[in-house]
Amino acid sequence: MYEFAVTPAVTQLRRPGVIITEVTPASLAEELELEPHDRITRVNGRPVRDYLDFRFQTAGETDLIFQVKKPDGETVEIEFDRDESEDFGLMFEQIVPRQCANECLFCFCKGNPEDARPSLFVRDEDIRLSFLYGNYTTLSSITEDEMKRIIEQRLSPQYVSVHATDLKTRAYLLGVEESRADISDKLDRLLAADIELHAQVVLCPEINDGAILEKTLRDLAAHYPKVISTAVVPVALTRYNTDKRLTRVTPEFCRRTIKEVEKLQKEFRKTLGVTFAFLGDEIYIKGGIDIPSRRHYGNYPQIEDGVGMVRSFLNQFERMLQKAEPPALAGGTKSRTHPSAMLPREIYGRASGPPAYAGGSPFGAPAYAGGSPFGASAHADGSTLFGTFLTGEMFAPILRGQIEKFNHLTGSRLAVLAVPNTYFGGDVSVAGLLSGKDFLAVRDKIVGDYVIIPSVTIKSDEPIFIDGMSYDQLKRQFPVPVYDLDTKGLLNFLAR
Ligand code: SF4
Repeated sequence: MYEFAVTPAVTQLRRPGVIITEVTPASLAEELELEPHDRITRVNGRPVRDYLDFRFQTAGETDLIFQVKKPDGETVEIEFDRDESEDFGLMFEQIVPRQCANECLFCFCKGNPEDARPSLFVRDEDIRLSFLYGNYTTLSSITEDEMKRIIEQRLSPQYVSVHATDLKTRAYLLGVEESRADISDKLDRLLAADIELHAQVVLCPEINDGAILEKTLRDLAAHYPKVISTAVVPVALTRYNTDKRLTRVTPEFCRRTIKEVEKLQKEFRKTLGVTFAFLGDEIYIKGGIDIPSRRHYGNYPQIEDGVGMVRSFLNQFERMLQKAEPPALAGGTKSRTHPSAMLPREIYGRASGPPAYAGGSPFGAPAYAGGSPFGASAHADGSTLFGTFLTGEMFAPILRGQIEKFNHLTGSRLAVLAVPNTYFGGDVSVAGLLSGKDFLAVRDKIVGDYVIIPSVTIKSDEPIFIDGMSYDQLKRQFPVPVYDLDTKGLLNFLAR
């Protein structure tokens, strides 16, 4: 779930241009006397709507004229030249997402508690964010301007929620008329212009499964390689989704779907050379079927959508284990408590740098700066680790299996606790949607000197959980220090 700052979209529509938020000291922008709050409205006479436009209008240009609206209303023109690769030293406001006009049966907004943060109700449907962050759009209300923009500015690949190529089914799922649900012409036009697409199917039992799913996957595969891949992810219903038309995903349904899709995957590998249609990790986990091998996922084309994350994690963990030293070799066998682990304060900065692979991790993408248990880890000097990982019910058995191997190898006493999601309830078992209260509910079951939670549970621009509890509030209520880690941080922590 991608969460947005809540700014009325209408504000940006009324004001053309893109607002500067930061100017790098000693940069070209500073030399040009550009300042935060200035709004660049035109570049070389062409209008600028957002920073994507700015990037597009300035790319490769060395002779430039900026039209700039100052905060006091004055408009100035700045004419200058630059070296082709010279950076401006500018940071811009975020794109305010365009909202969708659908009424999807399974929309996550309908699954939110009433008192959820307003930003969780933002129904984004924005081709710019699709290009920038891999957010899926349905293309059902895309305007002619947006179509032209994708093609002109090469906003490729786009991520499209197809759900079903059977028109009646698609219209039913999106809650719109068939004329609006029909995107066949738009898809043809994008593909003809060599715009690449990744597709998604949110799989709803008894609606777009079985023969409808097979037709969808075959129809999309017919456009490979321009349609690069398709993710099939199961609908996840919270306890607030009470729509009687929706059926919950069961283990039996998962096993049946795996069987049906496996046949197609084999066929696609034979005819296209790639798996092409990828089932969400949850389908394998819920069905009790082993996660496919590394080869199945190729270059992980749907990792942004969480598909293949478990395989990627398992492989990284195994590599880390191969390098881990048994305690006897490292010179120590006794589990001990590192003194710094007992101090409820932040010892080191959190793990930094990009995730090990694009698009996040099963343990969570980096969120907000918090503490790190690295100070508590003395693994490399022969001591062992003693603490508890908290994660979602879906990922917990997988992490536990790996941690048990790690404990066996190193003599550590790390535990993994599955945290039930009481905030959303229903089928929600992913780590990323755990709330502060969910963590507190398992406080009495933790063991060891510290607790590690997935970074992804903390809002990216503010240290709060999905239920509004602050990270500090949570830390105060735990008897031991609480740290947050993403996958890379977790592996680094264990490898030390
Ligand atoms: S496209 Fe559907 S699921 Fe997505 S925000 Fe709109 S209504 Fe919700």
